[in-house]
Amino acid sequence: MRVSRRLARFAAAVGVLVAAAGGLAQAAAPITLTVDATEAPKRIFHVTEAIPAAPGALTLLYPKWIPGEHSPSGPITDLVGLKLSKNGRPVAWRRVPTEVWSFTCDVPDGPGALDVAFDYVTPLHAATTASAQIAIVNWWSVLLYPEGPDDNATVFAPTLRLPAGWKYGTALPVAREAGDAITFQPTSLVMLIDSPVLAGAHMKTVDLTPGEKPGHWLHLAGEGAAAVEIAPEDVAHYKRLVAEAQALFGARHYENYHFLLALTDHIPSNGLEHHEASDNRAAERSFTNESAKEVLGTLLSHEYVHSWNGKYRRPEGLVSGVSRDYQAPVDSRLLWVYEGLTEYYGDVLGARSGLRTPELYRENLALYAAGMDNQAGRAWRSVEDTAVSAQLLYDARGEWADWRRGVDFYPESELVWLEADTIIRQKSGGKKSLDDFVKAFHGAPGGGPAVKTYRFEDVVAGLNAVAPYDWDGFFQARIRDVAPRAPLGGIEGGGWKLVYTDVMPELTRAGEEESKLDDFWYSLGIMVQGDEGSNAAEDGVVRDVVPGLPAAAAGIAPGMRLVAVDGRRYSERVLRDALRAARGSKEPIELLVENVEMFKTVKVDYHGGERYPHLERDAAKTDWVSAIGKPLVPVSSKP
Ligand SMILES: [Zn+2]
Repeated sequence: MRVSRRLARFAAAVGVLVAAAGGLAQAAAPITLTVDATEAPKRIFHVTEAIPAAPGALTLLYPKWIPGEHSPSGPITDLVGLKLSKNGRPVAWRRVPTEVWSFTCDVPDGPGALDVAFDYVTPLHAATTASAQIAIVNWWSVLLYPEGPDDNATVFAPTLRLPAGWKYGTALPVAREAGDAITFQPTSLVMLIDSPVLAGAHMKTVDLTPGEKPGHWLHLAGEGAAAVEIAPEDVAHYKRLVAEAQALFGARHYENYHFLLALTDHIPSNGLEHHEASDNRAAERSFTNESAKEVLGTLLSHEYVHSWNGKYRRPEGLVSGVSRDYQAPVDSRLLWVYEGLTEYYGDVLGARSGLRTPELYRENLALYAAGMDNQAGRAWRSVEDTAVSAQLLYDARGEWADWRRGVDFYPESELVWLEADTIIRQKSGGKKSLDDFVKAFHGAPGGGPAVKTYRFEDVVAGLNAVAPYDWDGFFQARIRDVAPRAPLGGIEGGGWKLVYTDVMPELTRAGEEESKLDDFWYSLGIMVQGDEGSNAAEDGVVRDVVPGLPAAAAGIAPGMRLVAVDGRRYSERVLRDALRAARGSKEPIELLVENVEMFKTVKVDYHGGERYPHLERDAAKTDWVSAIGKPLVPVSSKP
């Protein structure tokens, strides 16, 4: 009821597609779905469904284009053991040869539902969703749904069984719990897919807004009990994040919000946005080790911003699962707004809420600016082309990534949005800012989950309403055109300069410690597998090079292994010593490298020493960068 009222109101008022994100169709009989995750530590989930289906031809779909992943990443290879039956009699199925996420069958005559059974198996490493102590249930991986009805009209009655003693967190409303089984209230396919469950043996839930409506919870699942011990000052930052987001947007588009955070070194770090939740995974020691905490950084604030920018306001090309099913390809060319503006405000809110100090906020900008400015691939492809290609680039290899370009619509768009913000602040003498744009674009009226789509022209119109400017030309030059240099106008117009010194930034140090990659990116132009790794054969392997910088110019390529530096066995320390020594010398640095099974000596004529990006204050200009990171909510009023 509430959803259909909203739909009618928006459709009439602004003339754009507004699709309900939730809501139940009145007459649809629900599909009974039971997911048995009691063997999640073995990385296998057992699924049964009872699908009310009329006799005759039926197509069953496994979700293919996963919202937020912007790619056909539905793990169809890991759907195994599929069996269909009706009233105990087997029903034959065939996969659609031209669409392997789809299955056809012929439902026999007679009363009763079509019974579906299969297992979902998840990898030991890589994109796994389970460890011995933690499981993340993403419903798209554990259901088949019938082709045909609108996805808001397909209703599921889900039940989840967990290993004995495990706890869970989710935005899904619970109908009842009995033993190890949780039965959720019937929900639309769209909201089910949008509502993951985080479960584990060691869980802690923190109420971030006690007694308030909507409620906000931080659910932590750890590999051990120590991992979920979060300090009061860290909790305070997440409480401030909620308050700062409300101050920024002025309205919320959820009933309640659940931050799900798996603290584990056995499930890859990642984050995925939803209307009423985010599915975050980070290092086990994210709250007990400073480097890990710095790497966790603004992950949760990024995913939280998505509730407004990405889930509520969404490019019309990215509305899979709302206006159509999950099988149709998406048009992701506006990811520089969907992800780029989220990256910008994820970091801004991170600074405003204290998740990052002002110094680390600037350090991150420096690293983004230097990374993009040295990005060799920007000579041939635009930011928009990286957005259009997102469905492939998320999984692109690390080798030659700098020449290929990766998902640069995150960091480079942050620089572009920073520039837009500083332009508005400059033009208005500080009276207006990009905050005014997002408050109008992403804010009121608020309420439960809804989707309001937009096009590029809507973004330009929204910005012009705040500050008239050639925004079309602004984005043309920075996003659509191939641009040989990174957009540094926001940093420079914001009162700072990008400089290089021999001081390693704190975020680089923390990143090295967590990733085990050694950073020689702005000096020699190489990223090297650390020598403290567990696999000695990988020590010193060059993961990527910056084409044109000294190492690549001397003949080093991704995949080669550094064996010796100036005649001494390679280690990170030996190479850093050699960089320092070469500053006062005319002799090249001599590297012995292994290329598969061949060895060669490479002479790198480099004398610049260690080199890292930083922002340096330009006292001649107003410091808008610092102004942007200042809290909107007085810190003392929100302990
Ligand atoms: Zn994102």
